[in-house]
Amino acid sequence: MATTTRSRSKPAAPRQTKAQLAQAEAQAKFVMGLDDNYIACRQRHQLPPLAFTKTGKLPKGVYAVGPYANGVYDLVRICPSCGLLVSLYTGAGGKLLEAKGRRRYPPGYLAKGMGRIPSRLAMEEGLDRISSELYAGAVRPSGEEN
Ligand SMILES: [Zn+2]
Repeated sequence: MATTTRSRSKPAAPRQTKAQLAQAEAQAKFVMGLDDNYIACRQRHQLPPLAFTKTGKLPKGVYAVGPYANGVYDLVRICPSCGLLVSLYTGAGGKLLEAKGRRRYPPGYLAKGMGRIPSRLAMEEGLDRISSELYAGAVRPSGEEN
């Protein structure tokens, strides 16, 4: 019976080419230069929901443009934090004609010529900015004494 020998060492991290390293460096530099609201929005935008508010009014930042031919409207939502516009076409009776909105990003939001910025990078940058206050106010795990 043959036995296999397994290495106990961890597999080596994939090697990055010089171009990949340069891109990662450019992305990190870009993210460090972003304003706090762009760092927040790169984790999650604050698009208003398509629902009434508690007061029974339309949420701020939701409006319709139209009607165009065949009763089509362009439903626009604005992120109050960064100004991103997300548009969706609706048909008769408000039926959604597309599932994924068309996006128009505010100036300076998109990185150019350095690939897609991973959201993890924005999370790391955000954490770098808040970590001292975050950990200063850390809550002790239950069951531990001071
Ligand atoms: Zn946003």
